[in-house]
Amino acid sequence: MTTSQTSESVFIGIDLGGTTLKAALVSPTGEIICETRIETELRNPEALFKQVIETALSLRDDKNAGGRVAGIGIGIPGLVNRKTNRIEVMPNLPALSEIDITSELSSQTGLPVILDNDANAAAYGELQVGAARGQKEVFFITLGTGIGAGLIINGQIYRGAAGFAGEFGHMTIDPEGIECACGNIGCLETIASGPNIVRRTRERLYRDRTSSLSRLAIPRDREFTAEDIAHAAREGDEMAQVMMERTGMFLGIALAAVINLLNVEMVVMGGGVMDAGDLILKPTIKETRRRAFPPSFNSCEIVIANLGATAGMIGAALMARDQAN
Ligand SMILES: [Zn+2]
Repeated sequence: MTTSQTSESVFIGIDLGGTTLKAALVSPTGEIICETRIETELRNPEALFKQVIETALSLRDDKNAGGRVAGIGIGIPGLVNRKTNRIEVMPNLPALSEIDITSELSSQTGLPVILDNDANAAAYGELQVGAARGQKEVFFITLGTGIGAGLIINGQIYRGAAGFAGEFGHMTIDPEGIECACGNIGCLETIASGPNIVRRTRERLYRDRTSSLSRLAIPRDREFTAEDIAHAAREGDEMAQVMMERTGMFLGIALAAVINLLNVEMVVMGGGVMDAGDLILKPTIKETRRRAFPPSFNSCEIVIANLGATAGMIGAALMARDQAN
């Protein structure tokens, strides 16, 4: 059974994360009609896939949908091989590579399904209804537990030969740095992801115990996070500010290379780490300006994303909307 789209159609967007599975019914203009979030099932691939199916079915049959759901988009924290339509690498979740998600979910729900990388989905959301609306050449990065990116060329997601384009987080930024989950040494992700900002701060705190971070800002009842460091920086803590500035500096080094290579008109920075706002944005822009080819830098705007944590769901749903067109 296939359902064709009408102007009344709505779409399901699923953002499958390592800790939370978020899903929403989304209007064709990108508004969230209703949403649900649950803890991701991590026991095994079958249990995880069952959870995805149940979430999709409950949204399809939700009273708000009124039987108008016309497609499902799913963003996953891994790589989707465009040639086989299978997941190849998904470090933070049980391996779903054995399951043909697209066909299985489609036959269980009776709806067309599109599967993509989560950063691509979020990039598409920002392009359609977020910070990059109306742009054509855009580089979207997401800074969170990992670092992902989505590249938009001529208004379309650029996926590369097999679907693996946009691995911005795995550009080497420090050849003598630490080992990355991907096996390489000194990837950008080993410096500027949320957990690595925490790790670098911890190392520095160990050496410099005079920072107010050690006295005031660090919660004693739990591990501190990149958000805690951003908060301390906003409160005026010098070391926290230095950590944010240095993170922006490394991001700027990597972004200058991207801008030189692609001459994008906009860079959109999203993900949980960007809750720090200008504390990271400003040093990123400063370093990018210092290193990029001036005409390329001058024709590029670097901004903060504006869909926040909903970008992935909205983008996945709008990919489903546009798949049939
Ligand atoms: Zn890496």
